[in-house]
Amino acid sequence: GCDCRRFLRNNWLLLSTVAAVVLGIAVGVLVREYSKLSSLEKFYFAFPGEILMRMLKLIILPLIISSMITGVAALDSSVSGKIGLRAVVYYFCTTIIAVILGIVLVVSIKPGVTQKVDEIDRTGSSPEVSTVDAMLDLIRNMFPENLVQACFQQNKTKEYKVIGMYSDGINVLGLIVFCLVFGLVIGKMGEKGQILVDFFTALSDATMKIVQIIMCYMPLGILFLIAGKIIEVEDWEIFRKLGLYMATVLSGLAIHSIVILPLIYFTVVRKNPFRFAMGMAQALLTALMISSSSATLPVTFRCAEEKNQVDKRITRFVLPVGATINMDGTALYEAVAAVFIAQLNDLDLGIGQIITISVTATAASIGAAGVPQAGLVTMVIVLSAVGLPAEDVTLIIAVDWLLDRFRTMVNVLGDAFGTGIVEKLSKKELEQMDVSSEVNIVNPF
Ligand code: ASP
Repeated sequence: GCDCRRFLRNNWLLLSTVAAVVLGIAVGVLVREYSKLSSLEKFYFAFPGEILMRMLKLIILPLIISSMITGVAALDSSVSGKIGLRAVVYYFCTTIIAVILGIVLVVSIKPGVTQKVDEIDRTGSSPEVSTVDAMLDLIRNMFPENLVQACFQQNKTKEYKVIGMYSDGINVLGLIVFCLVFGLVIGKMGEKGQILVDFFTALSDATMKIVQIIMCYMPLGILFLIAGKIIEVEDWEIFRKLGLYMATVLSGLAIHSIVILPLIYFTVVRKNPFRFAMGMAQALLTALMISSSSATLPVTFRCAEEKNQVDKRITRFVLPVGATINMDGTALYEAVAAVFIAQLNDLDLGIGQIITISVTATAASIGAAGVPQAGLVTMVIVLSAVGLPAEDVTLIIAVDWLLDRFRTMVNVLGDAFGTGIVEKLSKKELEQMDVSSEVNIVNPF
């Protein structure tokens, strides 16, 4: 009776999204079986999904700017420094753990040893980058020379060699750094700064309202997105060939998200990690469907603040940064893929090379933007660091779209647990802060 109706009311969006996924798969399989669509028709078919992606991408810019600025401005600069430090320590530790887990698995399962390079067809072309270029680009990105340009960066310009660092043309890292400084400054300006704080608070509330509207469209968009993808994939055979590699990546991601992250969360927060993860279900499902942590960000916000009741002063500040630099799934994936490619090439990796892979995989995951298959691009950094042929990323391109979905889900889960953990660790500071800063962030829902 009543309980059931309340459950439906609270979870209708999640339920209809799950239904959309199931229906999308069914429609995709049926259309694939019974009708031969031309490539143009396939394109039309995916159209409602494309619209969803466009809406999510559209909202990223105001979302990141307004939430970062209000988030930082609401905190005392001494407090925000501490919270920021805790977040960074959490990001770093979990990423390293993910890399080590990946390496342990791939070294013991050895998915590449039984197969040789020429057994797997290469698809697509590979980009050319060096490790140094990539590292420089990462730092360069933090200091955009032009704020307006940072909002629609070209993916490849003369001095920027590394593609895959921008979220759909937005230099998110650069904007985050700027908004961080801007938020701190206006938060300290007192009376005079208040007008700006109010402005961005209103912008943030309005943005969240729009997110709410977009989310109503989500089930429909997702239905066509998944159906369109199933119709589009040409080569299912490659999945059998690369089966063991995929199993290695997927089991690593599963261990990280079902055992390691929950354990860390439980150790620190002392609450049920799986209940917390269930609260994030809508965001996790979205990440799985659209393989982009940046585009999932609006949903991640909503889940963390609404379902899991994480303090807004934490989420506004920790989530945008996390979506950009904290990618456990990507780090694990890059480590596994690099060792796998070494195995395919009959290369015995020494401990020095394993360490090189770990370090560059961590850096590559930080550098990767939260967009589909960014990790595949920054993967080239890892390969070239240990002298593997960069064009060998083409060996794994064919299955990357699938693995990308799962690693993005783990990326989002890592960010989410991060908010809970940082909130718990910062309880004292948050309680001590004056109440006035709390009214700055109103619940828009
Ligand atoms: N798609 C991933 C993300 O958005 C990045 C990656 O390709 O690993 O988090």
